[in-house]
Amino acid sequence: MGEEYKHSVILKEDRCIGCTSCLKVCPTEAIRVREGKAKIIPERCIDCGECIKICPNHAKSAITDDLSMIKKFKYTIAIPSLTIYGQFPSNISICEMLNAIKKIGFDEVVEDTVGADISIHLIKEYLLKKSDMNLPLINSSCPAVIRLIQMRFPDLIPNIIDIETPLEITARIAKKEASRRENIKIEDIGVFFITPCTARVTSIRKPIGISKSYVDGAFSMKEIYGEIVRNLGDCNSSNMGTSTKESLYWPIAGGQAAALGIENYLAVDGIHDVIRVLEEVELGKLEDVDFIECSACSGGCVGGPLVIQNSFIAKNRIMKYARKMKETKHTIEELDSFIKMYESGLIRLTEKIEPKSVMTLDKDIVKSIQKMELVTEILKSLPGLDCGVCGSPTCRAFAEDIVKGENCKAVCIVKTMNGFKNKNK
Ligand code: SF4
Ligand code: SF4
Repeated sequence: MGEEYKHSVILKEDRCIGCTSCLKVCPTEAIRVREGKAKIIPERCIDCGECIKICPNHAKSAITDDLSMIKKFKYTIAIPSLTIYGQFPSNISICEMLNAIKKIGFDEVVEDTVGADISIHLIKEYLLKKSDMNLPLINSSCPAVIRLIQMRFPDLIPNIIDIETPLEITARIAKKEASRRENIKIEDIGVFFITPCTARVTSIRKPIGISKSYVDGAFSMKEIYGEIVRNLGDCNSSNMGTSTKESLYWPIAGGQAAALGIENYLAVDGIHDVIRVLEEVELGKLEDVDFIECSACSGGCVGGPLVIQNSFIAKNRIMKYARKMKETKHTIEELDSFIKMYESGLIRLTEKIEPKSVMTLDKDIVKSIQKMELVTEILKSLPGLDCGVCGSPTCRAFAEDIVKGENCKAVCIVKTMNGFKNKNK
């Protein structure tokens, strides 16, 4: 985890043919194609992984950790994303999967259900006090959505529920318990997440809302899958496969709301639909909704850029496991302890989530307005087709790039053709 780290999503330039497919799907207009190659504008990238999913040439990929990293720690714990249960045929038991992960070289495997169960209970408590809150409340569990809100919807930051993600809660508890049980210093214990998600990798390395992640590294589910398959075959640990019904819903779109057992909610998946709904929240149109569960990926985390199986099959398999699981039952003492942990700041987002003003044309408000006027002028001379041939995602982005002096060599091919009609006029 070097100082240089900015994002998990990177471009392999030699593979890029400048086809502009990624340009069109990037939700934050973070991509330009210049001189035949895509470029990512780092300040704008939210690591959603949409460009990885669409690139026909596999020119976009994710930086994750190498398995050799586990050798740096005396004791290692793997936390596989719950999406892992959707990646194998249904005749493979959860216990078998978890055992196979352990055999890769971890001392322990802990299910992410621990944190999911606690989160579900805390969000329920949160909703009891909704009259004091900015409604609708927005889940904090999708890091790509949180980065999107910082960048495009800063006024909605107060709507984000300030509960740590299930992963951070699970990692914190697993580390502390292992330290006590094995009598090992916390810093000698490495916790590793097996991730379907590029944004999660960035949230581990550059957390938002907390000063430091309890997770020490992330392995791509896609990369580690072959190792897990090689180790499948037995299930010799009695403490594995302890998921509850509600927690298993968590990685599926709508699963958080289902686990909460509430009715007045919206479950929105797919980053472009998330943007559409957040625009409505920003306009004050959805104040009668209690809770919005936003997932950047279509289908929820099961649709992440680093999964193996398509999200529909994965969802179906997870639901099959969930149906066989027991419902969560915590004692009053346990529920009280979750609330105390939250109130004491242990599993709460204690750092301020800051807005990021990367969409403005200039830090100086006066200059920004002047530049905006210039953009409007240039836009009038462009065809308004948003074709992307110039290498900017839209005609507006092209005009902004010109004003910012970033796009001097690019030309509008459509504009140079005879007889086009400007639809902006
Ligand atoms: S989708 Fe983007 S990264 Fe992939 S080849 Fe096309 S322009 Fe290059
Ligand atoms: S990861 Fe998402 S935000 Fe970043 S460049 Fe790719 S599509 Fe854009």
